[in-house]
Amino acid sequence: MSRTIKLIVIHCAASPNGKVLGSASKSAAAVIDQWHAQRGFRRQPAAIAAYNPSLKAIGYHFILDVDGTKSTGRALNEVGAHVAGHNANSIDVCMMDTDQYSTAQWGELSSLVKALLAKYPGVPVLGHRDLSPDLNGDGTVEPSRWTKTCSDFTVANWLAAGMKPQAKNVLPADVPATHLPVAAYPGSPPSAATSLAGAGCFMLRSPHKTPSRIHYCRSS
Ligand SMILES: [Zn+2]
Repeated sequence: MSRTIKLIVIHCAASPNGKVLGSASKSAAAVIDQWHAQRGFRRQPAAIAAYNPSLKAIGYHFILDVDGTKSTGRALNEVGAHVAGHNANSIDVCMMDTDQYSTAQWGELSSLVKALLAKYPGVPVLGHRDLSPDLNGDGTVEPSRWTKTCSDFTVANWLAAGMKPQAKNVLPADVPATHLPVAAYPGSPPSAATSLAGAGCFMLRSPHKTPSRIHYCRSS
C-alpha cells in the first residue's frame, strides 16, 4: 500500500547533546524502539514482517545519531507515530541530541531530506513545533504557540540557507564515530538486537509530551 506524502517532519530526541545513542551492537533505532515500546507504541504485524522485523514499536522512519549514523525504523509506506494529526501523510526524521547537532548529522540530514524531496517533490519540510496550532490564525506559529520545542532549530531558516548547518545548533566538538554504520538510505535492517555495553541512565525532556520528563535507563 502506498501513501500520499504531504509533509516531511524533523524531530529531535531531546537526548543529551553530544551523546551517541547507538553502539556497535545496537543501532539508535533499536534503542528508540525500546523507548517507544515502553510508551505503548506498536507497529502493525504486517509492517513488522515486511520491514525491520527486529523493531516492534518504533514510531520514526529515520534516526540520525550524533555521529551521523543513519538507521531506519518504519518503512516509507508505513504510517509513523510521531506527530498527532499528521502521521497518515508524513515522513519523519529524528535527530538525536537536544539542540546541537554534529557536522556529520547536519550533512546526513541534508542528504536524507534531499533524497526524500527527490522522491516526493515539493513536499513541505517542517519542524515538529511548526505543526503547533496557529491560534491567532495569522498564518505563523509564533514561539509562544509552540506546544513543544522539537525540532529545536528553525527548519525554515535551514532550508533558506541551502541546508547549511545552523550556527547556533552545531555541537562545539564533533564526536568520533563509535559504532558501526548499520543502515544506509533507504535502509537495511539494523543488526540483531543484543544487550548494550555498559549501563547508564539519563533524564530526557520529552519534546513530544511536554512538560513531562521521561527517565530512560539502559540495562547492561
Ligand atoms: Zn518531535
